[in-house]
Amino acid sequence: MHEYAKKITILYVEDEDDVREGYSRTLTRICSKLYTAHNGENGLEMFQKYQPDIIVSDIKMPIMNGLDMIKTIKTITPDVKVVFTTAHSESAYLLEAIELQVDGYLLKPVQKKSLTTLVEKLAKNIIIAREYEEQREILQYIIDSENSLSVITDIKNISFASKSFLKFFAVEDVAEFNAKFSSIVNIFAQSSDGINAQSIKTFLNDDKTLYDFINSLDETQRIALIQSENGEEKSFLVTISKINTTQFLMNFTDVTKIEKQKEEIIKKANHDLLTNLYNRNKFEETFAYELGQVKRYGYSLSLAIADIDHFKHFNDTYGHLVGDEVLKLIAKTLSGCTRDSDIVARWGGEEFVMLFSKTSYEDALVSLQKCRVSIESLQYKNFGKITASFGVTSYKDGDTLKSMLNRADKALYKAKTSGRNKVLGII
Ligand code: GH3
Ligand code: MG
Ligand code: MG
Repeated sequence: MHEYAKKITILYVEDEDDVREGYSRTLTRICSKLYTAHNGENGLEMFQKYQPDIIVSDIKMPIMNGLDMIKTIKTITPDVKVVFTTAHSESAYLLEAIELQVDGYLLKPVQKKSLTTLVEKLAKNIIIAREYEEQREILQYIIDSENSLSVITDIKNISFASKSFLKFFAVEDVAEFNAKFSSIVNIFAQSSDGINAQSIKTFLNDDKTLYDFINSLDETQRIALIQSENGEEKSFLVTISKINTTQFLMNFTDVTKIEKQKEEIIKKANHDLLTNLYNRNKFEETFAYELGQVKRYGYSLSLAIADIDHFKHFNDTYGHLVGDEVLKLIAKTLSGCTRDSDIVARWGGEEFVMLFSKTSYEDALVSLQKCRVSIESLQYKNFGKITASFGVTSYKDGDTLKSMLNRADKALYKAKTSGRNKVLGII
């Protein structure tokens, strides 16, 4: 059977007419197309014209011998398959033939069976290499047509990558990537939510791989921040699937825009648009967390309400827009006069709530007095003195947000009714 030979073309170069005709019949039968030539020069012409897959050639021929012909052909197509047929008397050429790294020698008179067996063997190699190359092309096509960056990896090295992946990391090929990063794990940034180098390294051990790590994450957490060669940081949704026990397909879908949008939405949901302070929603969430800490560890917790004095009058006098500016200024002042760990939020209108974690009633009073003085000292254009009143309380067993707000509000009411610009508290 010559199933592989049937798919290839052969050039047969032989100066003796009867020999050439004899073997031509044999070769024609087994291959898809046979070309013949009667000397090296003629062979070279035929090669350039038809680009055959295999050349079977005599060595000693007039005008140009087989060695010189192959030397020239190899400069054009280095990996063309070559078989020499040599007579005993031509053994002097043999060494030179070996140097040309040809694929086979057959001693004249050539056994037809040896010739066809050798041709079939070479044809098989050609076809397998061709199919392999075709499969790589198909794989490359599929991988490149995906919108995402894709790689095939054994978790450490990569063996295949989409053009977009190589471009992102500014490398020419997979070898350059492997040399540069030494492991695919190193593309992940050190610190961020989701997939990062630190959490991967703590997770990995003898029987846990990157595959297990990524799949252990909730889908919304499979986001990685990856820095491109030009320093640009992008968010990718990472998926990984098993091809076999050692090979994995990883896909990186650019979700930078979506992540930015998500961040903005979260920010909007948690912040007050005018003052950029936390809004009521986020304050309630933070309070719930702090309350948990207090119940668990017995920390102290203080809460205050601040309300601008006679703000209606201020607005009526200077206009709402100026009022807005003052609200922003007071928001900034309240943030500035408290610690970073304290929470200042806009409760609504000209009312603010403040949460002092791990802070006693007395310490909260001190902090609020500082705030009161800061507001009183504000010089905003020529709008005169602006003041605020404060009501404060501290956590007692069984307290809820509602009960604490109630006491702080009562204290605030007292501050208002006893002259304003005051800090009063109820424990
Ligand atoms: P008091 O000292 O008793 O707190 O008097 P007040 O005038 O500050 O209190 P009141 O509750 O009667 O009025 C609050 C005013 O705050 C009403 C409104 O004009 C103003 N205000 C509430 N929200 C905003 C806002 O977003 N922007 C501006 N410019 N003013 C606001
Ligand atoms: Mg008010
Ligand atoms: Mg007020």
